Amino acid sequence: MRIVLLGAPGSGKGTQAKLMVERLGLLHISTGVLLRNAAKRGTELGLKAKSIIDRGELVPDDIMSDMVEERLGREDVADGFILDGYPRNLAQAKSLDTMLERLGKPANQAIQIDVDLEQLIERIARRAKEQGRADDSGEVVRNRMRVYHEQTAPVIDYYANRGLLTHVLGDGRVEEVLERILSVLNVNHAPA
Ligand code: AMP
Repeated sequence: MRIVLLGAPGSGKGTQAKLMVERLGLLHISTGVLLRNAAKRGTELGLKAKSIIDRGELVPDDIMSDMVEERLGREDVADGFILDGYPRNLAQAKSLDTMLERLGKPANQAIQIDVDLEQLIERIARRAKEQGRADDSGEVVRNRMRVYHEQTAPVIDYYANRGLLTHVLGDGRVEEVLERILSVLNVNHAPA
């Protein structure tokens, strides 16, 4: 299974992806995690990315496509993956298609996790406290939301037009959201 997970900042993509990894044994590829790790290691790319992340902007497409292409080219991707945080605009969506076609591994499913704005803001505020992510507070969050609506939201239609998209309601307990996702994927529900 090759899944693209979509949703606004705070919609629970990362949380759901981790649970899906446990349940389905798929590989989780999060571009946000890859970038934050590069920043922690202090690589040139990481430091450049950090200043962009800290402003809530998008890291340039060429950097992102190199990073994703390198990751998708590794052997552990053979059994499928959950892509979280990529693509974030239409150019990235097209470039991902090209990469996956070249690898002979097109995406089979895109899932958009829908959460209303009020709840997103609440969740991000909680995450800011729990995880201390610098880009989860104040003006930066507002910027990330703006970037999401202007650049990332069109990606939803891109996958809808290709017949790959399903919307999943992202409110309620994390386990409930997971069950909704698993039923979209036609995977057995949790054991009783
Ligand atoms: P995330 O953890 O997915 O919310 O990503 C955190 C930040 O990393 C974003 O606000 C962007 O600055 C950057 N980032 C992550 N994925 C991408 C991407 N596909 N394209 C550009 N920037 C990204």
